[in-house]
Amino acid sequence: MSDTAAATYLGHAARVRVIACHECDLLQRESDVPAEGVLRCCRCRATLYRRHADSLDRTLAYALAACVLWVVSNAFPIVGLSVNGDLVETTMFGAVRVLYRDGMWPLSALIFITTMLMPACQAVGLVWLLLPLRLGRTPFRADAVFRALRIAQEWGMTEVLILGLLVALVKLAHIAAVVTGPALWSFGALMLTLAAAASAFDTRDMWARLQGVPDAGPAFDGDTPFPAATAAACGLCVCHDCGLLTRVAPAQAHAESDYANPHAAMHLPPHPTHCPRCGAHLHLRKPDSLARTWAYLIAAVILYIPANLLPVMDTSSLFGAQKDTIMSGVVYLWTSGSWPLAVLVFIASIAVPMLKILAIGFLATSANLRSNWQPDQRARIYRIVELVGRWSMLDIYVIAVLTALVQFNALATVRAGPASIAFGAVVVLTMFAALSFDPRLTWDARKTE
Ligand SMILES: [Zn+2]
Ligand SMILES: [Zn+2]
Repeated sequence: MSDTAAATYLGHAARVRVIACHECDLLQRESDVPAEGVLRCCRCRATLYRRHADSLDRTLAYALAACVLWVVSNAFPIVGLSVNGDLVETTMFGAVRVLYRDGMWPLSALIFITTMLMPACQAVGLVWLLLPLRLGRTPFRADAVFRALRIAQEWGMTEVLILGLLVALVKLAHIAAVVTGPALWSFGALMLTLAAAASAFDTRDMWARLQGVPDAGPAFDGDTPFPAATAAACGLCVCHDCGLLTRVAPAQAHAESDYANPHAAMHLPPHPTHCPRCGAHLHLRKPDSLARTWAYLIAAVILYIPANLLPVMDTSSLFGAQKDTIMSGVVYLWTSGSWPLAVLVFIASIAVPMLKILAIGFLATSANLRSNWQPDQRARIYRIVELVGRWSMLDIYVIAVLTALVQFNALATVRAGPASIAFGAVVVLTMFAALSFDPRLTWDARKTE
């Protein structure tokens, strides 16, 4: 497949393996990685490949454990409140249902997808791919399941949910006696097994087993001067999902400057659109990357205003009704003595979304201006944005648990306010903005030396 592509490119089959960086697109020689070793890009220091010993067995064991833990986590109550001898408990699905009943269906859908559906897809997807391989068979539709798994890993947020549950526990302890349920512990274990499975999973090893060959990327002749260029300039395209290098255009068909200009990169000639290995869409640069990033970002900025001005939670009790915005919730935590939680919620709900909007705006502006300023620092900003963005979901999970539990008609009732939907939309839109931004645009202004 791609070996033939490389052979036509160089005239004959050759044996220096090449790899392209998924963040800066630089073509580089691939060196052998020792077990548990990491291969990093020599220009932007992105992690290109991480090798794991016994990847298949370990990942499969963690994934099977995660499947069992997922069932336990959703079958039993997470947490309960005991008031005057009455015990009110909720499961995760119970919280989703209460929000739906209150007319907060966008919020309930978001919580259902990120805490129940996607973690299930993560665990089942890994078992689907690896169990047949372990038994010496070929998994059915491995390409589609692999791509679904990549989406599930992006949107599964078990670790954020755990932190949200802990914050909710502290808030609930102010109201009544809290009874922890078995699902609280099994969600914690689910978080750990999913993280362990994701870190032990070796995608290259899996594809090598599936195809029966070590790897199928192009290779260069050892005698040929190695082209210090981006993959795009050599007519090669790296797959976002599985990392396979595929030849999509004649070599040197486009001058390097074409890619240095994001506006030109948006109007590239048509080329093969699907990865021959996993079937993902292939593009030399993400299509309309900057236009889409800006569109998501502007929508997020607009919704950030109601998210902070409108009430995020309505509490009605014997002592009257109270409407809390995100900021007044933080102030309440601070004055009631839980200052570590106040700091945590402030960082997750106010600082992170604002900094994320500013950071993506800065990255997109510098790509628009074709700036050559410190691309390594900008690459670092991009990685931080990708890493911390999901933690803003914290407050959404806290609200969901409080809404599900505090339903004592006469005594106290908590409802999610309109700002919670706006806030959920800000988190999702900034994640879409980060996903639409192509980090390779950061490096395109710089000539490869
Ligand atoms: Zn790189
Ligand atoms: Zn692929």
